[in-house]
Amino acid sequence: MGAECGDYLSRIYELLDGELDEAARTKLQAHLDECPPCLDEYQLDKLLKALVQRSCACEQAPDTLRVQIMQRIMTVRVTEFRPSEG
Ligand SMILES: [Zn+2]
Repeated sequence: MGAECGDYLSRIYELLDGELDEAARTKLQAHLDECPPCLDEYQLDKLLKALVQRSCACEQAPDTLRVQIMQRIMTVRVTEFRPSEG
């Protein structure tokens, strides 16, 4: 994982929340295409978001899976990076 990954990872949440403009979104997606670790985190966060949104249909998501995802996301959040780009 490169030094710039922290910046991209912090933007994954913004991307999923629809808070990035098109230029930032394009840049982030280009990075995800060439950085498997970041793509992995993106997919996990996307999955978690989908699970939360469908919380009333949680029978389709085993509790163990939810817990594993939550733990992964919590780990990312605990080591939260600040965007260094000005
Ligand atoms: Zn990366």
